[in-house]
Amino acid sequence: MRSEYKLIFERSKEGRRGYDLPKLDVPSLDGLVPDEMKAQSKLDLPEIAEIDLVRHYTNLSRRNFGVDNGFYPLGSCTMKYNPKINEELPALFSDLHPLMDTDLCQGALDMMYHLDKALCEITGMDKFTLQPAAGAHGEYTGLMMIRAYHELKQDSARTTIIVPDAAHGTNPASANMAGFKIKEIKSAPDGSVDLEALRAAVGPDTAGLMLTNPSTLGLFESNIKEVASIVHEAGGLLYYDGANLNAIMGVARPGDMGFDVMHLNLHKTFSTPHGGGGPGSGPVGVKAELIPYLPSPVIMACHGGRVTLDYNRPLSIGKVKSFYGNFGVMVKAYAYIISLGGKGLREASRNAVLNANYVFSRLKDTFGVPHDRICMHECVITPGEELSALGIHTTDIAKSLIDRGYHPMTVYFPLIVHEAMMIEPTETESRETLDEFVEAMKSIAAEAKANPDALHAAPVTTPVGRPDEVAAARKPIVKYERQ
Ligand SMILES: *Cc1c(COP(=O)(O)O)cnc(C)c1O
Repeated sequence: MRSEYKLIFERSKEGRRGYDLPKLDVPSLDGLVPDEMKAQSKLDLPEIAEIDLVRHYTNLSRRNFGVDNGFYPLGSCTMKYNPKINEELPALFSDLHPLMDTDLCQGALDMMYHLDKALCEITGMDKFTLQPAAGAHGEYTGLMMIRAYHELKQDSARTTIIVPDAAHGTNPASANMAGFKIKEIKSAPDGSVDLEALRAAVGPDTAGLMLTNPSTLGLFESNIKEVASIVHEAGGLLYYDGANLNAIMGVARPGDMGFDVMHLNLHKTFSTPHGGGGPGSGPVGVKAELIPYLPSPVIMACHGGRVTLDYNRPLSIGKVKSFYGNFGVMVKAYAYIISLGGKGLREASRNAVLNANYVFSRLKDTFGVPHDRICMHECVITPGEELSALGIHTTDIAKSLIDRGYHPMTVYFPLIVHEAMMIEPTETESRETLDEFVEAMKSIAAEAKANPDALHAAPVTTPVGRPDEVAAARKPIVKYERQ
């Protein structure tokens, strides 16, 4: 037995609780830490055998639902399957430290430089920053650049961002955080931007427009060129929320549609499993006129293939993240892009759109359809008149899906559709899976008609039924309590 272990063992034999480490020769902190800041009693930490701990977490993980054990059609979240091999690639860079001299990490910088180039090619933008850690963080970054752009032109009256009501909820939130006023415009009856409302909304106070495209209704903005020219003519800039790029990549580019700044969610479209809060990455791409405002440092390629970081950027909005962003997510995205290639990316988008339209067309006779149009990567349905008349709500359908082995779709969003159910099948699901899901949805509708009360009781297969979600969010109990 190694001597340290023996020491621990002998001490524990004396009947002492816990294990003391052997004394190290550490200088005393006496006098350095004020007494009132020191712990007044020993921490009451739970003591448990390893096997019991392992069983506890293993059993909890089995109650969890993930894309690895079932279909996860959570609209606007792109819970697609990501290749496992991409998860191993960031480890290739595990010897790096962000404070290393750039000469010693040329490979990593070169990868970032080429990721930037690839994203420019995919989106039609001129330069990206890879710093933002999420989609909403990218929105904030982009909006700060829009602000800096108007400020430099001494156009201080431009304080309003126009946001259509079919935008993702983060759009107005980010605009507010970046110090803008928000002007919401209503969608036209077919779900697209109401051009008359937009013309009425623009003016000398317009800093820009934020467009989620496809919108949260899953619809492509067909008047996009006109939307862009109305805003540009009014002196505003155009922000494209490209979080769900698997709807259009390889097919259409925001840069060609007239947009000045946009973000992508690498953790949705480009191969990083997500949910539960990260890590994510929300690179922001800009057209040439906004390059000076990008967060510093900006990755540059110099002569001889050497990649450098440019910190000398007087107009930059500054840093938005420590070091260079979530590097591991970038590695996965780059691997995904080069392994699929241009053709593969286009095929991924086409399949995402095909799968959503397939599910939509098979469900639209059974459920309500707010917009009967070709959709993009996701579709929105409702319980419909017949089920509503029976007292069936979206919650009942979503909870019944759990009993049938599916993760529920996104519910009650977008807000502009009453009782919305937003389904995003993603490109990685097979025809068989989609057919089974459609049958499950149809069987829920049949059960609702035969026995509506049974549906109100769902889910019955889970350890917890219907928790009070509002109370759980507002008053979470996060403290450990010894039973
Ligand atoms: C997911 C999403 C966002 C926010 O992205 P986060 O990484 O969660 O901050 C923004 N816009 C759209 C359209 C999205 O789908």
